[in-house]
Amino acid sequence: MNSFSYLRPGDVTSALQHIRTPGAKFIGGGSNLLDLMKGGIEQPVMLIDISHLPLSEISAQPGGGIRIGALARNSDVAAHPLVRRNYPLLAQALLAGASPQLRNMATVGGNLMQRTRCGYFYDTAFDACNKRLPGSGCAALAGRNRNHAIFGASEQCIAVNPSDMNVALTALDAVINVQGSHGRRSIAIADFHRLPGETPQHETNLAADEMILSVDLPPVPFDEYVYYLKVRDRASYAFALVSVAAALDLHLGRVTDVRIVMGGVAHKPWRATAAEAVLRGKILSATAVADAARVAIDGAQAYGQNDYKIELAQSAVERALLHAGDLS
Ligand code: SF4
Repeated sequence: MNSFSYLRPGDVTSALQHIRTPGAKFIGGGSNLLDLMKGGIEQPVMLIDISHLPLSEISAQPGGGIRIGALARNSDVAAHPLVRRNYPLLAQALLAGASPQLRNMATVGGNLMQRTRCGYFYDTAFDACNKRLPGSGCAALAGRNRNHAIFGASEQCIAVNPSDMNVALTALDAVINVQGSHGRRSIAIADFHRLPGETPQHETNLAADEMILSVDLPPVPFDEYVYYLKVRDRASYAFALVSVAAALDLHLGRVTDVRIVMGGVAHKPWRATAAEAVLRGKILSATAVADAARVAIDGAQAYGQNDYKIELAQSAVERALLHAGDLS
């Protein structure tokens, strides 16, 4: 690990001043950043510890919905009464992620920012990784790509976003509130993470001098018929091979609104809008769900070792929707 200076600023304003130092990084729970530093993938010259700043509150908002502070711990969010009652999909996704010990440390802001788990990215013995060394190539394209993307990838990078929380936040239309040297702005979750394109080293649209302050969840009709399905190698602790956040709003058996978002399949949570359109307005049935699941994998492309993911994604979407709609 490289040597670095360590600061513990007293407030957000001071933290934002320090982040302008080239090579500075914020640290909250540190559950991903410390691993990256130990491996030499991240080499910050300054760590700005923000873990003590007052950004962990979870509160109801006047117009409905809730605001979750960026430093709220994943376990606290999953256990919060407002989340459990109004956003059970988020609670399910958080509890599917990591181990209890990690969930006690990991923050919402850190979870949004966590980096891919591609083995070539973490192993500096491999030279070809455009995400770690832009312009060096992508070892995973013709290598070990069992866990890699089937949607939205590029020739530069086929890695996936590893978060469960981000998948649920996408289904719930979350908005990320950030602050930087140019003031505050809000970013829809769909615009927060990026596809790899030509610049896979950039995983989000957060500017280098910006800090995540909070996440807003609007009032949504997805408090009953929801299900987060995570398919992984080990039930106790593993990243998703494929996951699905399924949310239905049902009125007399008819689908009045729906969200289908897949995780583990792309560089960002992958919303299956065409599959949602198949269900919207229909009476929910096993046949309609199967039709939607077939549409959900339209355009999928695999790279050899991850060929299985296309069929797995289809079945996972079908199973998640059947569970969400109490049809299983
Ligand atoms: Fe690097 Fe992305 Fe290729 Fe993995 S998939 S080796 S992270 S460029």
